[in-house]
Amino acid sequence: MPEVAIIGAGLAGSLLAIYLAKRGIRIDVYEACGDIRLDAASAGRSINLALSNRGIAALRGVGMDEYMLAEAVPMYGRMIHGLSGETKLLPYSGREGEYINSVSRAGLNVALIDAADKFGEVTFHFGRRCTDFNCESGEVKFAGGGSVHADTVIATDGAGSAVRRAMGSCVKGFDISQEWLDHGYKELHIPPSGGAEFQLEKNALHIWPRTQFMMIALPNFDGSFTCTLFIAHKGEAGHDTVPDRKINGKPAARVAAFDHLEDEASVLEFFNDEFRDAVPLMPTLTQDFFANPTGDLGTVKCFPWNVGGRALLLGDAAHALVPFYGQGMNCAFEDVGVLDSLIGQYGTDWETVYENFGALRKENTDAIADMAVENFYEMRDATADPVFQRKRELETKLEQTYPEYFSKYSMVTFREDMPYLSARRKGNAQDRLLMEICSSVEKVSEIDFDDVIRQIEALDA
Ligand code: FAD
Repeated sequence: MPEVAIIGAGLAGSLLAIYLAKRGIRIDVYEACGDIRLDAASAGRSINLALSNRGIAALRGVGMDEYMLAEAVPMYGRMIHGLSGETKLLPYSGREGEYINSVSRAGLNVALIDAADKFGEVTFHFGRRCTDFNCESGEVKFAGGGSVHADTVIATDGAGSAVRRAMGSCVKGFDISQEWLDHGYKELHIPPSGGAEFQLEKNALHIWPRTQFMMIALPNFDGSFTCTLFIAHKGEAGHDTVPDRKINGKPAARVAAFDHLEDEASVLEFFNDEFRDAVPLMPTLTQDFFANPTGDLGTVKCFPWNVGGRALLLGDAAHALVPFYGQGMNCAFEDVGVLDSLIGQYGTDWETVYENFGALRKENTDAIADMAVENFYEMRDATADPVFQRKRELETKLEQTYPEYFSKYSMVTFREDMPYLSARRKGNAQDRLLMEICSSVEKVSEIDFDDVIRQIEALDA
């Protein structure tokens, strides 16, 4: 009998397998899909993720950080693209060495599975989709028949977790909420020019904020960019941003939503109006638009995460976030690090480990889930707002001048020593103050920085 059954060999599950194997625990990992290492070469275009300090710290714990960063593209700030193609770089931090990293999702997953597979303690079982979990007996059932019993089950089977679904019907008082945004997403592609040349500034996360919708682009190691369009699924949620649109000579605002982008002509017209500097860089725009799936964006919160010592939910299975803080994977990796230190403290007394894990993590994962939704509105609406842009400029200046000052973004992204909940509380209070200050001036140079720092210190008191 295996000691631990991990369900899902995604990002969290494969990192967890490495951590547990290092402690000498025997692990069987059951993954619904085939072995990504065999599929990766044919998987085609890269989908990327922003890796930052919390995730890097967890990778460092198993000696994988430098290896992953060697294939990452650093992003030093947000490059804002206006309607007529003008750009402005808003640095993520005023401090040197604080930046985020664009990494390939498949590349990271392959590296983690490869590293886990080197341990004799770890056995991967691909093509095994969990369909049910029995809270009484601890039995895990699989599609097509077959089941296993383990000392304990750790479910890292992602946002649509089958184990979480089973817990919903067998754990008394299981509390779950799932909230979906009106917006969905679609991945698109900017290829490299001349083989490997980046067609946009390489070291930035590009954003085309358009109030009701937006597009972003992250660089890939091969010179391409993965773009993601975030827009309402259905028409009522938004109109486009071109104020003087006319059809047959009459003003006509266009509804900006997936269900109104129904053919090549409407997609091209929309992109030419809204993202005109990007269109010439996207030769396969319409093919990609109709070939790639449209994804949903939701927040899942639930509790408890454990069934005694028999099972635990971890990563997206426990707390799926919308992607607007770039923290889902980083948070899932942080989960793994916290679980490992609790095993260090309590050994394989799984119930005690799991109870402490829930007590430590729940308020923090709720905090990052809420901040991720808030950041959606900030990226979509506020990054184009001059007061917000002044606030970012002020934050950068404060970070350059006062080493002890951290913006909310910096606390979440670069302070792995600070729990998400503390970052949210302190960050929101600072944000309110700085927005107020920036709305009363025309230029950041009019602001007395020492006075701002004094006001921030007074918030802490
Ligand atoms: P997953 O990575 O989803 O892995 C789950 C694994 O379980 C998969 O291998 C799946 O095949 C397997 N599985 C599923 N069901 C079963 C089953 N029934 N039985 C067996 N196996 C199963 N996070 C960041 O930190 N930075 C970013 O920039 C970022 N960008 C994102 C952009 C988008 C558009 C989206 C949607 C998410 C983004 N995220 C980002 C979030 C990140 O992708 C997730 O938080 C992260 O993948 C969670 O890891 P996980 O291992 O918990 O789940």
